[in-house]
This record gives sequence, structure tokens and C-alpha cells, in this order.
Amino acid sequence: MDSISRSGFLRRSLNVAGALATAPLLASARFFLNPSNPPSEMTDLVATTTLFPQAPLPYAYDALEPHVDARTMELHYGKHHAKYVKEVADAIAEENIDATSAEDFFANVSGYSQKARNNGGGAWNHDLYWRVMKPGGGGEPSGALRDAINSSFGDFATFKTKFTEAGMKRFGSGWAWLVKDGGKLAIGSTPNQDNPLMDVSEFKGMPLLGMDVWEHAYYLNYQNKRDEYIGHFLQVINWNEVSKRFA
Ligand code: MN
Repeated sequence: MDSISRSGFLRRSLNVAGALATAPLLASARFFLNPSNPPSEMTDLVATTTLFPQAPLPYAYDALEPHVDARTMELHYGKHHAKYVKEVADAIAEENIDATSAEDFFANVSGYSQKARNNGGGAWNHDLYWRVMKPGGGGEPSGALRDAINSSFGDFATFKTKFTEAGMKRFGSGWAWLVKDGGKLAIGSTPNQDNPLMDVSEFKGMPLLGMDVWEHAYYLNYQNKRDEYIGHFLQVINWNEVSKRFA
């Protein structure tokens, strides 16, 4: 190959490499411009583990409007949640963590790094959060879950008051929870991305319902008014999903 045809060959090779490198970026840009696109292709862009995969959102970004706005959903799922999923995968690899399940991971999280704890919690908590909301949700639970709420808190109105208080009293970033602990239900909160499955958590139990009270969950639409966000969250709760977890 003479020098002229070699430079042409190199240029063509670089063009092909460049096109391949930018293809995923273009795909994700298109995806972000259209909030009603199914977001499943996001999951191809981040490292995932079998312990903490990022499942596709079960609805479109704008499906929870006006309670949760599309832009918040897009950033929350596509950026915040995706980053927790990638970072916990990195931490698991770096620390050779051999947990067999998410529950096993959290039961031993005191032995892992802060990176593993924060991002493992972030990955799992958000997966639950997306599933306990749905378009046309809200209302009141029924059946065995309703009975348990009544026997644990008195009535559904008292449950709502206590759950709202748990979210309001959590200073800074964290989560409010409804958990099952033995036969009883309990309401509480955790800081940062901790959850009630963690051995380090003061508040323990099997999470049935989790509400993100980090500002990134509501600031674009509600600014500092966390109480308004919580009122709207209660209007999109997927009580069927919460009931399934209770059973
Ligand atoms: Mn969040």
C-alpha cells in the first residue's frame, strides 16, 4: 500500500469507528427528546448486574402527569437511577462481593464500602419506587392489606397522616417506608439511600411501599414544597403492587 492509499484507508477506518462510537449517543438523544418513547433502551447504556438490574419503566415518562412531571421522571430514571445501577455494579466488581440476592447483599452491607451501600440502596429503592406508582393509581387499598392497615394504624386516614409525617420529618435526603415486620405493618424512614433491609438501618422490615424524598424526586415541579409532592405521590400509589408484596 502506498502512502496515499494508506491515508485513505486510515481515514475510512476512522470514519467507521467514529460512526460506531456516536451511534449510542444519538440513540439516547432521540430517546430523551421524546418522553413517550418506551425507555427500555436506556438499560443498554449502563453496566448492570444480575443483583441490581435496571428494569424498563412500566409506563412512559409523562404517564404520571400532573402528579409527577415527565422531565423529573426522565432525569430521575435515566440519570439518577441509571447511575446507582452502574456504580453498584462497579462496586460489586471492585470488592468481589458475592451476595446471592439483593436481600443477602443488604443483610451484609455493613461489611461493604460506602459506595456499595449507597448505590446498592439507590438501585433497589428506585426499582421499588417505579413499581409502587402507576397512572390512575391512588385511592385506597382493599382486602388483607386494608385490614392490616386498619389494625396497625386505626384507619386509612391515619396511615396517610403518619406516612406523610415520616416523609416530612426525614431531614435532608432519604426515603419514607411502609414495611411488614412479622405480622405487623410499620411506618418509618431512612437517610440517604439506606433501606429497611440493611443491617445498618435502625428502621427494619420488608418494604411494601417506598417514597423517595430526595429533592431530585420533586424539585422541578414542587421546588421546596415536599408536602405537596407527598400529597401527589399518594394519588399515584399502585395499591395492587403493594398488596402483592404484602401477600
Ligand atoms: Mn431518587
